[in-house]
Amino acid sequence: MLNKKKSFYKHVAQTSDAPMGLEIERAEGPYIYTTDGKEYIDFISGIAVSSLGHRHPKVVEAVKRQVDRHLHVMVYGEFIQEPQSKYAELLTSQLPNSLDRVYFVNSGTEANEGALKLAKKHTGRHKFVGFHHGYHGDTHGSLSVTGRDVYRDPYLPLLPDVHFLDFNSLDGLEKIDSETAAVIMEPIQGEGGIIPAKKEWLQAVRKRCDEVGALLIFDEIQTGFYRTGSLFAFRGYDVVPDIMSLAKAMGGGMPMGAFVSSSEIFESFKYDPPLNHVTTFGGHPVSCAAAHATLSELLSDEYGAKAERIEKIARKELTADGITEIRGVGAMLGMELEDRELTQQVVEECMEKGIILGWTLHSNTLVRLAPPLIIEEKLLRSTLQTINKTVKKYC
Ligand code: PMP
Repeated sequence: MLNKKKSFYKHVAQTSDAPMGLEIERAEGPYIYTTDGKEYIDFISGIAVSSLGHRHPKVVEAVKRQVDRHLHVMVYGEFIQEPQSKYAELLTSQLPNSLDRVYFVNSGTEANEGALKLAKKHTGRHKFVGFHHGYHGDTHGSLSVTGRDVYRDPYLPLLPDVHFLDFNSLDGLEKIDSETAAVIMEPIQGEGGIIPAKKEWLQAVRKRCDEVGALLIFDEIQTGFYRTGSLFAFRGYDVVPDIMSLAKAMGGGMPMGAFVSSSEIFESFKYDPPLNHVTTFGGHPVSCAAAHATLSELLSDEYGAKAERIEKIARKELTADGITEIRGVGAMLGMELEDRELTQQVVEECMEKGIILGWTLHSNTLVRLAPPLIIEEKLLRSTLQTINKTVKKYC
């Protein structure tokens, strides 16, 4: 008989010495159930993916309907497939006129790869500016603009001519110059430790890009789809990017990503040579059907208000000594603790108590809090109270 645990550790490629190792039976709403009969509250939404909870009925229904029609039929951009067109129309109806075209991919890092290539092709330039502690994915292009040397160094040389500036600082904005193809940033840094951009600073970056003809790319892979209270975080900043990358919550649990820009900017993908950016599976019909159902659901109710309510309640409940700060916006929150040891104890003990929490990639003292937006108030409060008590216990 298959020993799932053994096969996982022996034959599935590992990315750390200490995976969380829950053996999954099924998942529903805010809960994940393991094969040993335990119930866990997914308080990180599979890292900002299951904003509608696991297996939202509308998403599951859309997936089943599409599976019964067709799966893959052709590589990207050749055949007219209803799920793609329908979803692109719905998504762009929610965006400013300058973001009227969608290129579908399968993941966040692919969305950023496409965004970087598009910026190069459109501007004819190859310099990029990113930010310290920014995170954009693990393929070579995205890694090149990710602002953490410890992840970049083992893979050097990466893309040449990439410069990093301090997030939220006006110093060095002159590095964005007439040779810059694009500036890439998260409006709220996720893996860097849940750090929101300041509004005036973001507007200054936009202004500088306009002055020198550089494109501005917003990576909204983690911030998108109401995680921060707005459908997209850029709405709260009164700044419109030239290109926006999306993934994570987009597919309601199915693999899905996209980069969105204007028809004018996308023109450059059609020639010199034609087909210079294609993908086999991007815009998979089942993922597009799931994404359409997800966005329709998100637009049908007050999901922005739900995210805001999560922040309000979290700030009220999480008051134990040892918590030095609650950072973030809406349901994209970070609980900063006094030190690494305490952080580890809290995450481990909460897991034993059936609450899945996590770290962010670039911080040792920040506990990520990203509950599904559908979480009921009673469960939200009791979970936060358990987390608070656990912090209290260790300090
Ligand atoms: N950009 C941001 C802001 C992210 O948070 C992530 C994933 N954590 C990515 C890009 C990469 O997405 P993916 O893992 O789907 O490639």
